Amino acid sequence: MDEVQIKVEKAHPNDFGRGIVRLDPTTLLSLQLSPGDIVEIEGKRKTAAKVWRAERQDWGQGIVRIDGFIRQNAGVGIGERITIRKADVETATKVILAPPEGVTMEFGDHISEIIKRNIMKRPLVEGDVIPIISSMTQPMSSQVGGGQAIPLIAVEVEPADAIVIIGEFTEIELRQKPVRGYDGAARGITYEDIGGLGTEIQRVREMIELPLKHPELFQRLNIEPPKGIILFGPPGTGKTLIAKAVANESRANFLYIAGPEIMGKYYGESEERIRKIFEEAEEEAPSIIFIDEIDSIAPKRQNVTGEVERRVVAQLLTMMDGLEERGQVVVIGATNRVDAIDPALRRPGRFDREIEIGVPDTDDRLEILQIHTRGVPLREDVTPEFLEYLAKHTQAFVGADLLALVQEAAMKSLRRALPDINLEDEEIPQEILDTINVCREDFESALRE
Ligand code: ADP
Repeated sequence: MDEVQIKVEKAHPNDFGRGIVRLDPTTLLSLQLSPGDIVEIEGKRKTAAKVWRAERQDWGQGIVRIDGFIRQNAGVGIGERITIRKADVETATKVILAPPEGVTMEFGDHISEIIKRNIMKRPLVEGDVIPIISSMTQPMSSQVGGGQAIPLIAVEVEPADAIVIIGEFTEIELRQKPVRGYDGAARGITYEDIGGLGTEIQRVREMIELPLKHPELFQRLNIEPPKGIILFGPPGTGKTLIAKAVANESRANFLYIAGPEIMGKYYGESEERIRKIFEEAEEEAPSIIFIDEIDSIAPKRQNVTGEVERRVVAQLLTMMDGLEERGQVVVIGATNRVDAIDPALRRPGRFDREIEIGVPDTDDRLEILQIHTRGVPLREDVTPEFLEYLAKHTQAFVGADLLALVQEAAMKSLRRALPDINLEDEEIPQEILDTINVCREDFESALRE
């Protein structure tokens, strides 16, 4: 066989950003591939990835696992099909990389070095979004958090129209000027950035991604996709994260409303802002409007007396009732307690679906820790078993707490390294940077605090 068509699933946390596709032995055999080979991946677009063997539980399932960047490059979503075939690969003579709009970057010498290390041996085609993962991403760009991937676009590749690999002698040019048309990439949050919450993501996808991508399905069956969904659960569990991921993966605009902030002081100001955001969402549809702490805008009426709240709720309801039935604008509200919001909001045609986003269990915590240590340089004593130990000993930690734990451990490693660093230096030499690693003791002492 020359090619297979196969269903896409999300990548494991550890595979994120590495440009790999996991194939099971049957697929490997039928395409006569071995791990390490490069394949062409075709959805609505063509891209390339390096082959790795699937984990045993995935064998015979008829799936491949690729991360959000490869999915974006291939123009497919989870659950859709791609075609895979063995690729002819050439070594690139030149590659020009530039950030997408919305990401500004400072390119220094060590940044170029990090980028080069990241993309060495990675297959790509012109127009691909390439994630750069590094603990150094924080100073590189203020728009993306540390440890997360910074997307760069391969704006020009020589030879063009080929699947290329970056080699020792490939000339790499970094351009500061952002490229248009990749606004989805700038947000960058994909389902791989979320630990646990598998069922919850599945439900959010059915309710939002499916209608946004395929309104015709819902028309055919004469069912109305939801206009509004409430995500509820404790703070820091990933409600905002899910909303951003689903927007990104459905290629929808993401419009954020911070509940407490929109309650302006002047007469009519809050209503005006809500109206503007809904108008923008409709003009630029498909869009997702995310209202954080929606209970602060629309609390249960018996708890409120405020005239402003009443008018704001009325405005929100008017805007939602006025949304077209096609489901191209979806409003996601987040709250800690679902019973804290005005019941008028929860009537049919408004926020009529609810999904609970709960506190992670041990397995979920492990996944979250893996996600947040992805871009962190770890010393060898931070083994996979040690991460399991951490997951077991962080009961009642939510995602945000685990992120804080990893960041605190990283700060401890920095404090340890500081005496060896000459802060007068213009730029800290790469050899010194290479010695900064986060060790087991950093995590343990962060945990004790
Ligand atoms: P919420 O909206 O529920 O208050 P957020 O989505 O804003 O929580 O979470 C804050 C941060 O905590 C996120 O940006 C992410 O870094 C981390 N986080 C929270 N939940 C998770 C999770 N399930 N997986 C990975 N990271 C998480």
